[in-house]
Amino acid sequence: MSWPFVFSTPNLSIREAMVTDILLGKNDNVEGVCTFFGMNFYAPAVILTTGTFMSGKIWVGRTSMPAGRAGESASHGLTENLQRLGFESDRLKTGTPARVDCRTVDFSVLEPQLGDEEVSWFSFDPDFHIEKEQMCCYLTRTTKSTHQLIKDNLHETPTYGGWVEAKGPRYCPSIEDKIVRFQDKESHQIFLEPEGRTVPELYVQGFSTGLPERLQLPLLRTLPGLENCSMLRPAYAVEYDYLPAHQCSRSLMTKKIDGLFFSGQINGTTGYEEAAAQV
Ligand SMILES: Cc1cc2nc3c(=O)[nH]c(=O)nc-3n(C[C@H](O)[C@H](O)[C@H](O)COP(=O)(O)OP(=O)(O)OC[C@H]3O[C@@H](n4cnc5c(N)ncnc54)[C@H](O)[C@@H]3O)c2cc1C
Repeated sequence: MSWPFVFSTPNLSIREAMVTDILLGKNDNVEGVCTFFGMNFYAPAVILTTGTFMSGKIWVGRTSMPAGRAGESASHGLTENLQRLGFESDRLKTGTPARVDCRTVDFSVLEPQLGDEEVSWFSFDPDFHIEKEQMCCYLTRTTKSTHQLIKDNLHETPTYGGWVEAKGPRYCPSIEDKIVRFQDKESHQIFLEPEGRTVPELYVQGFSTGLPERLQLPLLRTLPGLENCSMLRPAYAVEYDYLPAHQCSRSLMTKKIDGLFFSGQINGTTGYEEAAAQV
C-alpha cells in the first residue's frame, strides 16, 4: 500500500487540528501556533495556508452554512487573532458549478474536446509525471432559455440579491456575472468535464451559480445535451477571509512577524496552480 505523499515523507510529523492563535516569542518573532483545544505547537517558522476556510461560508441562493468547502468545516478564530496582531484582512467570494450524472447526458449532440496529444507536465520532476490515457471532455453552450431564466431570477442570487458583498478573487465569473456583464453575447461556451474514471460525475465548467437549488436543475436543462440530465450536487458560492498580499515580502514571509509565512489562496489568489506555485 502506498500512503499519501505527506504521510510517506521522512522526518515529517503530522497533526491535524484547528489553529486559532499565532504564538510570538520575545522579539515578536513567530514561536508556534495554538489550537482551538488549547494545545501549543512550537516551530521556528509557521506557514499559514488556509485556502477558503477562514470564516468560510457557503451559499446556495439565500441559504448559507459555515464551511470552507461543502462538507468541510470552516476555521474560526484565526482571522481575529491575525487582526489583533495588526494584519489587515478582507473578504473574497468564489464558487463551484453543479455536478451532473454523465449517464443522463446526450453526448451525441455535443462537440468532443480531446486532451492534448502531447501531454505537458506541471512539475519538472519526472517522478510526478503520471502517464494515463486522457478522458474526453465535451462542449455545450448556453441558450436563450438559459439567459432568460437567469435574468428572471437574478434577485435570487447572493451577489445580485445584495446579501453577499465580497468580490471575486480574479476574473472567474459565475454564469449570472457573464450574462449581466456581456449582454451583447447570445451564448457562452460550457465544458463538460469528467470528475474521474470511477465516478459518473461531470463538472459543468463555466456554469457556477449562486441561484437557489430549486432553479438549478431547470437551468442545467436549458443546455443542449442536458435536457434530461439529473443533478448530483448543486452549485454554490463560498465567501471567506483572505490577507491582502502587500503584507508579505517576496519570500511570502510577513513583513510584521519574522518566521510567519502566508501561502496559497490566503494571499488572494484562486486556483490549484496559483496555490501550488507558491510552495
Ligand atoms: C468550491 C471551490 C471550488 C474550486 N474549484 C476550483 C477549480 O475548479 N479549479 C481550480 O483550479 N481551483 C478551484 N478552487 C480553488 C482551489 O481549491 C484553491 O485555489 C486551492 O485549493 C488553494 O490551495 P490552498 O493550499 O491555498 O488551500 P486549500 O486547498 O483550500 O486548503 C486549505 C486547508 O487549510 C485547512 N485550514 C484552514 N484554516 C485552518 C486552521 N485555522 N487550522 C488548521 N487548518 C486550517 C483547511 O481545512 C484545508 O485543509 C476551488 C475552490 C473552492 C472553494
